[in-house]
Amino acid sequence: MHVPFLDLKGVNHEYADQLKAACSRVIDSGWYISGDELVQFESEFARYCNSQFAIGVGNGLDALSLVLRAWKEQGMLSAGDEVIVQKNTFIATVSAIVENDLVPVLVDVDPATYNLDMAAVEAALCDRTRLILPVHLYGQLAPMPQILALAKQHDLLVLEDCAQAHGAHLQGRKAGNWGDAAAFSFYPGKNLGALGDGGAVTTDDPGLAKLVRALGNYGSSIKYQHDLAGVNSRLDEIQAAMLRVKLKGLEADTLRRRRLAERYLARIQHPLIRLPEVVESSAHVWHLFVISCPWRDALKAHLAENGIQTQIHYPLPIHHHKPYRHLAPASKGLSESLSEQILSLPLYPTLSEAEQDHVIRCINQFSIA
Ligand SMILES: *Cc1c(COP(=O)(O)O)cnc(C)c1O
Repeated sequence: MHVPFLDLKGVNHEYADQLKAACSRVIDSGWYISGDELVQFESEFARYCNSQFAIGVGNGLDALSLVLRAWKEQGMLSAGDEVIVQKNTFIATVSAIVENDLVPVLVDVDPATYNLDMAAVEAALCDRTRLILPVHLYGQLAPMPQILALAKQHDLLVLEDCAQAHGAHLQGRKAGNWGDAAAFSFYPGKNLGALGDGGAVTTDDPGLAKLVRALGNYGSSIKYQHDLAGVNSRLDEIQAAMLRVKLKGLEADTLRRRRLAERYLARIQHPLIRLPEVVESSAHVWHLFVISCPWRDALKAHLAENGIQTQIHYPLPIHHHKPYRHLAPASKGLSESLSEQILSLPLYPTLSEAEQDHVIRCINQFSIA
């Protein structure tokens, strides 16, 4: 049996008729950038996140970067300010910080959740710290109540990286609804995936919303009047129309992910394998199901021999990548050894129970002879 890590064709096939209809609607409208599909999607997505505003942008990196750029415009951040961020995130989180001449301060994570470790965050605070950038990694919210309390105490901004956490919540409060602003990605493989690149910013701050929109549209709110030095980062009509279709199915898709995750949690039983943990009152959306094993490479090879494709998110902590080596913290922490042990298993809404049972069986049979 062959079990792919992700079957995007299968995932989108379920929506094919609606996607084709939406695509035709856009073609026939004659309007392809910044039109009604975008307006509708933004309002639907804002409602979904319980946020006042959602602004569609070109991708997840731009969503992060445009918020930082807007805060610089507003004088709330300046070049050289420090941003606390975790070592085990996807590179884009750090690219957005560096792109804005801010300084990432890489900290360790909690080995049970892979999210920010509060003791590490507190240890990293200094008088140049201006922002905390938690990533709701793998689909579970970071410890937001503690992060917001600390931010309040030290007068810091909070930007959530929600690229992996569409619809996740903690204590009933959704991802994208905790910080001063949040960034989402609609890259095809994300839980809410477009059929190309896409992203969004959510916030309750009307001034920030307006600024992000203008900065992503060449610094313009009025056609051919450019009050700011902006960039081109917009969510086009076709992608907005695709996302409107996919958003309608997101809750059902998330429930399917959750059911599969619960099956993995109940049925994988192996003394050498550690399963992911769900925090109390947390609704995990399982963008990724990440296990850890000291013999990770042997386990990955064993699964591959049995037709099972796995991935590693991520094989290297940020400061092990060439452009970011100078960000290496003084001492080695947990994230370095975690990156050698983690393994992401196949998990997506259309994964069948038979396929999953094959994965579970092969994992439980793994031995390090
Ligand atoms: C995917 C991702 C991004 C970037 O999104 P793009 O749309 O690919 O630019 C940022 N942060 C995290 C944590 C991600 O997983």
